[in-house]
Amino acid sequence: MTELDPRRRIPRTDQLLALPEVGDARNRLGENVIRRVVLDLQDKARRGELAPEEVEPAVVAAVAQCRVTSLRPVLNATGVVVHTNLGRAPLSAAALEALITASGYVDVELDLGTGTRSKRGVAAREALLEACPAAEDALIVNNGAAALVLATTALAAGREVVISRGELIEIGAGFRLPDLIASTGARLREVGTTNRTHLRDYTDAMGPDTGCVLKVHPSNFRVQGFTTSVGLPELREATAAQQIPLISDLGSGLLTPDPALPDEPDAFTSLTAGADIVTASGDKLLGGPQAGIVLGRTDVITRMARHPLARAVRADKLTLAAIEATVAAGTSPVTEALHADPARLRSRAERLAAAVDASVVAHDGRVGGGGAPGVPLPGWAVRLPEAAAVHLRTGDPAVLPRVHDGACLIDLRCIPDADDDRLLEAVRAALRSAER
Ligand SMILES: *Cc1c(COP(=O)(O)O)cnc(C)c1O
Repeated sequence: MTELDPRRRIPRTDQLLALPEVGDARNRLGENVIRRVVLDLQDKARRGELAPEEVEPAVVAAVAQCRVTSLRPVLNATGVVVHTNLGRAPLSAAALEALITASGYVDVELDLGTGTRSKRGVAAREALLEACPAAEDALIVNNGAAALVLATTALAAGREVVISRGELIEIGAGFRLPDLIASTGARLREVGTTNRTHLRDYTDAMGPDTGCVLKVHPSNFRVQGFTTSVGLPELREATAAQQIPLISDLGSGLLTPDPALPDEPDAFTSLTAGADIVTASGDKLLGGPQAGIVLGRTDVITRMARHPLARAVRADKLTLAAIEATVAAGTSPVTEALHADPARLRSRAERLAAAVDASVVAHDGRVGGGGAPGVPLPGWAVRLPEAAAVHLRTGDPAVLPRVHDGACLIDLRCIPDADDDRLLEAVRAALRSAER
């Protein structure tokens, strides 16, 4: 290097780290992330790809672009409420606040009055019992699958789980319930046929080797025509006589009936109808964080809670806090999207369409997440050229439309009203890019 070598004019690392904008970003994102940005841009300048005087503004611009997570927020314009690929349920403001509170040291397992250890997750449990008074007790684990594994392990490992052949389902991405149950060491005792199972099929199979009887809600498909299945009240009579626990795997996480989804089972009704316990997901129709929720009889839940596996699937403090907040609030973005007023959806769609000179078409949203198959959620969508879709997905903010029948459809059901203006800007930008 000579005196004239431009590389001598590249700002030093400590100078760059001392820039106020960089200091702010360092507090937010952490030293490592910022140092990486600085070193990369200095290297670029050494290679002659950036002029020395461009390094400082480039660092400032780059740190402003840095994000704490590579996950990108997406405006869900598909009309699918519980969208598995978008992380299922978006959390409520209440749940978000609970997460922030729970992120520090919190009394999750401590009685501050006595200074001694307390039971974990008491408040979330109480919120659930208040929302679903048919349950004596509640247990929260990592997800619905974990709830089912814990139940079948604690109640039936080395013994039989009696289940109808019509309920041996695959949920998504190759996740098969029968395989999951078999992995616990319980043996599946399949009864009935795909389309018809009768009470005597169950009673013939039940005996001293039965660990539990399992009813699974076939949440993501429907069997029509010549079908019979056995309801919880009849099964209850048979299982109670032999003191066999009756489990109902609901999947969706409705605590009480939702008139908009008449075929979707809920915890309250299932427990009242005779299930000893129900298992459900926190991030489907409950609209909360990923969690497995078990509700029902104290003696059965105690057996599960005392099983060593319970420790391996226990929910973390963030989940417990977010479940408590979601359940106590009694509503969530999922609930609101499910019940969105079609007239309001139409006027929002018309406003967006008018601004970009597009048309509005009738469009049914869906529950998604494997729930309520075939139940349309009537609404409206803005119809754009298909070519806009890729630009929407890759724009900022990212927007996921529905591509269907050669068109790019924007359904506003799952987009909060407050984001309408951001959505409009994103659509304008995508249409400009698509025209180029
Ligand atoms: C979704 C679902 C599960 C699994 O729940 P996860 O929370 O995804 O682990 C189990 N049973 C049924 C019926 C479901 O719909």
